[in-house]
Amino acid sequence: MHFTDLGIDTRLETQLAHQGITQPTDIQAHAVPTALAGHDIFAQSKTGSGKTLAFLLPAVQRVMKQKALSKRDPRVLIVAPTRELATQVFTQLRLLIAGTNIKAVKILGGENFNDQIKALRNDPHFVIATPGRLADHLTQRSLQLSGLELLIFDEADRILDLGFTEQLKMINELANHRLRQTLLFSATLDHAQVDALSRNLLKKPKQILLSAANEQHSDIKQSLYLADHLDHKEALLEHFVKQEEVGQCIIFTATRSDTARLSELLNSKGLKAQALAGDLTQSKRLEIMDAFSRENFKVLITTDVASRGLDLLSVTHVINFDLPKHAEEYVHRIGRTGRAGFKGTAISLVGPKDWPSYKAIKSFLNDELAFHTVEGLTGKFKGLRDKKPQVLNKVNDKVKPKAKAAPKRKAKPKKPQAPIKAPLNIDGDAPMRRRKKPEQE
Ligand code: AMP
Repeated sequence: MHFTDLGIDTRLETQLAHQGITQPTDIQAHAVPTALAGHDIFAQSKTGSGKTLAFLLPAVQRVMKQKALSKRDPRVLIVAPTRELATQVFTQLRLLIAGTNIKAVKILGGENFNDQIKALRNDPHFVIATPGRLADHLTQRSLQLSGLELLIFDEADRILDLGFTEQLKMINELANHRLRQTLLFSATLDHAQVDALSRNLLKKPKQILLSAANEQHSDIKQSLYLADHLDHKEALLEHFVKQEEVGQCIIFTATRSDTARLSELLNSKGLKAQALAGDLTQSKRLEIMDAFSRENFKVLITTDVASRGLDLLSVTHVINFDLPKHAEEYVHRIGRTGRAGFKGTAISLVGPKDWPSYKAIKSFLNDELAFHTVEGLTGKFKGLRDKKPQVLNKVNDKVKPKAKAAPKRKAKPKKPQAPIKAPLNIDGDAPMRRRKKPEQE
């Protein structure tokens, strides 16, 4: 099948061929003609399956071929949850519209507001934005949406997770006219909140559900390793990053401070690594992403800021140094590898603190994620026992009151206190400990 078979203009097809893209992916084959026919779309398809072009192609074609509703307002608005993802979409759009007179701007948090106002005064056809900064421009009226023709939400579930519900309502209301077409895309849309949102945003949408959010990704090999403590995780990490088959690698951590610490650690071992965290300035974030995409360094250590925005085919490995709290984020993190038909490997380190996340991911994926071991690096931690369910009082369904306490015995003389052990049944909030020093053991 060719892109022209989907109704795409030959100029766009030629533009794609320059990028080596000749055959539509599944999601493109389904979504492009549906969008060109003017339908609203609710589309779910796995990470790296070509969703971005699935909405960009019909959007660009519309701007090229159809008369605008308004000369001043943007014709297409694309909202993405993170700056990294918005930048990624913008980069793909720029390639598609090269050589045309179509204008596009990127409106991201962390960048100069006045420069953005100037760019918006230039009457762009496309605006690609993160939700918070977009809402600021709408409030200040530096951007009007009454002539908007196509509203696209990329990774709508993450926009909601980040707490932008009010901003989405505002965008919806300001671009509320009969002719507006709306498209919603993600790898993980089966989410109660998204259902409610889509009822408000979409009119008689066509559902394109190519894979369930919890479906195993056939191009990503997933494996898990148990870890006793931070030192153990660090030793495993070093072992994996040093493997010959690792091309470029992304490491996800739970906190910003861990990104910096691990970057220092890996560099001290001669591995070229850089940390990318949300507290860096936007220009620094872009600089690091750019250097990584040019393969100037091998290992990128980041938090969930990059779990959805990185599209680099050179990433062969994703390592979860900590597991994410939400199972959907696990799907997006590991989806930074195994993209566009390439194979990838996802490795997750699971310590006592990660156990509740592991259970949530395992149940979300409906799968026994297999644990593996590395010779010479196996530990003692073998997982946590499930908490015993509380006994309910059958009469009123309340927790049964405890039996009356027995009278206290005379206290025995105290033994010297043993070093504190990791509790057997913690709920995941206990901090990951470093290995005990030899004199404590
Ligand atoms: P996406 O899921 O949109 O982030 O796309 C993942 C990767 O697949 C990107 O690097 C795209 O450039 C690439 N891609 C998108 N569509 C195609 C296609 N039809 N053929 C080959 N690669 C594609």
